Amino acid sequence: MMFVILFSSLFASASLTSAAAVDAGSVAQRLRTELAPHLSRHDLISTEAPPRWSSFNAPHPAVVVNVETESDVAITVKYCTSKDIPFLAQNGGSGWATTFDLGPNGVLVNLARLNQVTFNADKTQATIGGGSNISNTIAHSYAAGALIETGNCNCAGTLGAILGGGYGNLMGLYGFGVDNILSLRVVTADGQLRDVTASSYPDLFWGLRGAGPNLGIVTSAVVKSYPATEKDMEAWTGSLVFSPDKLEEVVQAIQDLELQSDMNIFMYFISGGLPANEPAIVTTPFLYKGNVTSGRAAFASLYAIGPETDNTAVIPYNQWNAGGDAFCSFGGRKPSYGAGFQNMVPKTWRETWNEYVEFQKKPTAENSVVLLEAYSLTKARSVDPNSASFPYRNVNFNAVAIPWYNDTSLDSEAQSFGNAARDLWRATDGLAQTSTYINFAHGDEDLQVVYGSSLSKLQSIKHHYDPKDQFRQWFNIN
Ligand SMILES: Cc1cc2nc3c(=O)[nH]c(=O)nc-3n(C[C@H](O)[C@H](O)[C@H](O)COP(=O)(O)OP(=O)(O)OC[C@H]3O[C@@H](n4cnc5c(N)ncnc54)[C@H](O)[C@@H]3O)c2cc1C
Repeated sequence: MMFVILFSSLFASASLTSAAAVDAGSVAQRLRTELAPHLSRHDLISTEAPPRWSSFNAPHPAVVVNVETESDVAITVKYCTSKDIPFLAQNGGSGWATTFDLGPNGVLVNLARLNQVTFNADKTQATIGGGSNISNTIAHSYAAGALIETGNCNCAGTLGAILGGGYGNLMGLYGFGVDNILSLRVVTADGQLRDVTASSYPDLFWGLRGAGPNLGIVTSAVVKSYPATEKDMEAWTGSLVFSPDKLEEVVQAIQDLELQSDMNIFMYFISGGLPANEPAIVTTPFLYKGNVTSGRAAFASLYAIGPETDNTAVIPYNQWNAGGDAFCSFGGRKPSYGAGFQNMVPKTWRETWNEYVEFQKKPTAENSVVLLEAYSLTKARSVDPNSASFPYRNVNFNAVAIPWYNDTSLDSEAQSFGNAARDLWRATDGLAQTSTYINFAHGDEDLQVVYGSSLSKLQSIKHHYDPKDQFRQWFNIN
C-alpha cells in the first residue's frame, strides 16, 4: 500500500476538469508528465482507444492507460480521483449500456494486458486476470484440462460478464459465475488494493458479485475450476434452423422443455446470410458430454417440429463458443434492450418477430439480432439467494433485442424497435416486478430493475467504499 501514500502528495496539483478547454492531446501530455513516471513502464499512456463491441453511446476517452500490473491500476485510480478525472475500466469492451459518460477529459483504464490465467496444482482453482476475455480464459482452461464457468461469447470480458452475474454453458452444473468466485483482488476508490473474500470484506464480497463495476476494479479473481478429461471437455451443440411459420411451435417447445443440468438452449432471430439476408429462426441446443443420439433425444421436441437445417455436432470445449463469433464482431451501432421473464408466450414472440423483420430489412440493419436464452437453473437456485448481490435467480428466461446497423440516421427507428421488443416481453413477463439482468440492460432502466432487492444494501456498501462516487459509469448505484 506504500505507493498509494507516496504518490498521493505527488498527485495533489490542480484538478484536470477545472482546466479550461483541454484537448485530448494536452490531457495525454499531462498524464505522460504526471502519471507515467509512477507506472511500471513509462510508455503506457496512449490516445488510441481499444475497440468496442458497439459504437452506440460508447465512451470516448481522452486518454488510455494500458496498465500492465495491478499497481498500475491502483496508481491510475489514485491519480484520477485526486484530479477528479472521470475514469472507466475496459475489459472485453462488450458492455453496451448507455450509462457511460467520460466527458472530454476521461481516462480509460485498459485492462487487456492483465490477461493471465493460471491454475493451482490440482486445477480446482483458477486465477483470472481482470483483462482476460472469454476466449483467452477458455484457451488456458482447455490447455490445462479444466472447465471454468464463463459466458458463451469469446469477445466478452470473463470478469466483465461474471461481475454482473455470469450466465454460461456450464451453469446448470456449477451455478452462476458469481457463485464460483472464491476471492477478488480489487482496487477501491481510495486507491487501495484489497484481497476481498467472504471473510475479509463480507459486504464488499457480496456487492462485487452482481454490481462489481460500481465498487472497484478487479485486477484478478480466484474462481472454482473443474479438472476435466478430454471426454469431459466435449458437448453436443450447433444450430437448428426453422422456417418462420414454425415460430409458435418452437417457442412452445422451449417453454415446455425440462432443461436438465447438462442442457441449455438459445433462440436467435438473425440474418439467414447472403445474398438475401432473409430473417431466420435459429436455435442452438447444448448438451454437455452429449452425442448425436443423446442430443437428438434431449431435444426431441425441437426435432419433431422439423428444422430445415441441422448443423449440430460434438464439439470440444475450446470451440463451444465459436458459433457466436459473428455475434462478437466489434463495431457498428448496437443499442441493445434486454428483459427477463417467466414464460415463453407464442403470441409475444410472433409480435417480436414482426418487429424484427421490419427493422432488419432497413439498409445496413441486416445483422440485427434478437436473442433468447434458457438455462437449467436448478443448481443456481440451490444457492442461497442472499449470498451475492446478483438478484435474479428466480428469472426463467432472458432476451435481448439488438438493432445492429451503421447509419446513424437509423438511431431513432432502432430505439423504437428495441423498445417495442422489450415492451412486448415485459407485458407478458409474469414477474412481480420488472427484472433485467444488468449485463443485458439498456441503460434507461430504474435502478430497481437491474439491482432488484439488493439495491438498498448495495447503496450503503457503495457509500462506504466509494463515498465520492468515482465508479459511476455502469448503472450508477449512487
Ligand atoms: C457478444 C456478447 C456476448 C455476451 N455473452 C454473454 C454471456 O454469455 N453471458 C453473460 O453473462 N453475459 C454476456 N454478455 C453480456 C456481458 O456480460 C456484458 O456486456 C459485460 O458487461 C461485458 O463485459 P466486458 O468486460 O466485455 O465489457 P466492458 O465494456 O469492458 O465492461 C463493462 C463494464 O464492466 C466493467 N468491468 C469490466 N471488467 C471489469 C473488472 N475487471 N473490474 C471491474 N469492472 C470491470 C467495466 O468498467 C464496464 O463498466 C455478452 C455481451 C455481448 C456483447
